[in-house]
Amino acid sequence: MCAGWGFRPGRQAALVEAQPLIDRWPEAPAIARGAGRAYGDAALSDTLLSTRQLDALIAFDSKAGTLVCEAGLSLAELLEVTLPRGWILPVIPGTRFVSVGGAIAADIHGKNHHHQGAFSSAVVWLDLLLPGQGIVRVEPGEPLFLATCGGMGLTGLVVRVALQLLPAASAEVDWQRLPCSDLEQLRALSDKHASDTYSVAWLDLSGKQAMRGGSLGVGELADDGNTQVKWQSSLPLPPLADWFVSDTTMRLANDFLRWREMRHSRGRVSLEAFFFPLDRINRWNRLYRRGLLQYQFVVPENSSSVAIGELLDRLARSSARPYLSVWKRMGAANDNWLSFPMAGETLAMDFPRRPDVLKLFNDFDSIVAEHGGRVYLAKDARLSVDMFRAMYPNWTSLAELRESMGLAGTVVSDLSTRLQL
Ligand SMILES: Cc1cc2nc3c(=O)[nH]c(=O)nc-3n(C[C@H](O)[C@H](O)[C@H](O)COP(=O)(O)OP(=O)(O)OC[C@H]3O[C@@H](n4cnc5c(N)ncnc54)[C@H](O)[C@@H]3O)c2cc1C
Repeated sequence: MCAGWGFRPGRQAALVEAQPLIDRWPEAPAIARGAGRAYGDAALSDTLLSTRQLDALIAFDSKAGTLVCEAGLSLAELLEVTLPRGWILPVIPGTRFVSVGGAIAADIHGKNHHHQGAFSSAVVWLDLLLPGQGIVRVEPGEPLFLATCGGMGLTGLVVRVALQLLPAASAEVDWQRLPCSDLEQLRALSDKHASDTYSVAWLDLSGKQAMRGGSLGVGELADDGNTQVKWQSSLPLPPLADWFVSDTTMRLANDFLRWREMRHSRGRVSLEAFFFPLDRINRWNRLYRRGLLQYQFVVPENSSSVAIGELLDRLARSSARPYLSVWKRMGAANDNWLSFPMAGETLAMDFPRRPDVLKLFNDFDSIVAEHGGRVYLAKDARLSVDMFRAMYPNWTSLAELRESMGLAGTVVSDLSTRLQL
């Protein structure tokens, strides 16, 4: 059985290593699969081309900070090599267990999107395996680049990539936590700290009212010259931990976090503690026995306050409560056809999978679409075709390119089938 990070939907699939197939595409419809960290159905299909063995670091110029690697290399493995030599990935997501190919396919964003943009901004070129056409080199600005970065694997398999990294004087982060009681205060704090490189907020939305409190965390890479990377080994999930997860216990967990987060504090922590706190628990998603649903959306700056207000009102009228909620301000959108970020605010909320939650998400979709926003495809398994088309108007460019290159029947995922791409 194969599934994404959210466990549902799951399905039978043939998992084949992409490495031996490198110059030919399988007969059956297939899609690339990296580390399986997308939540929904993006990396599910009849045949999954696993990049697990496609993980070589081919070249690294430690003077210029350019790196060439295979697409199955994880961000953790990459940072282990580059950071001690003074170079960091410009864009780092909330887990280090993501492959470079997956980062390109979702055009991922980090806590510094307002300064650095999305992952594709670091891509110098990529080599793409196309069914029936072999490997082609793709460079920024070309239609295949605009389609591939953010294109959820639907243009073929990224085989190799060249990346431009940023200089880094440390593998530690100087951070501070700034408490806030509501979204207005959070926005004011975020404006005040707009020049800080990294910024992300935790919100407690677990109560009956819309928001019980939160905190903005901001950070900068330290300059102490300590560039050694040390990952702590992940702790196993305690036995039966999943049986203790319920609305009540998660409200108590949020109470504890609120008590901790509502005090201003500052300090210096490892890269791992700042960027990847959830990685400390091995496969924490198993806490959600019946499946994990994340709703991540972005709404444009000019309507973000109204849109998020409406969405939280809708949430307050439901019986569902998110167990974990994370807010970020985003910078300008790029030109990639299906890239998620846009100038505005993004909110990601984790829920246990339940029928009432799925219904709630449909109402969220209407609010998000009405305000010109969109849902993040890397976290999605349920968006309707109509909503997708409203949220991603450039879908037509991708559909036309797939049709003209003969990809529509060969490079196929459950996501592409669901969204009629
Ligand atoms: C705990 C956690 C935190 C996260 N935090 C963030 C975050 O902060 N920001 C953010 O933007 N995302 C975040 N994500 C989402 C994650 O970064 C994306 O889903 C990413 O695509 C996962 O990469 P993967 O290697 O696991 O790919 P998979 O999940 O295996 O696949 C995801 C997509 O990438 C495609 N793909 C994978 N490899 C290739 C390849 N070689 N060539 C072509 N297509 C390929 C697949 O076909 C699929 O469409 C997070 C996910 C988790 C679980």
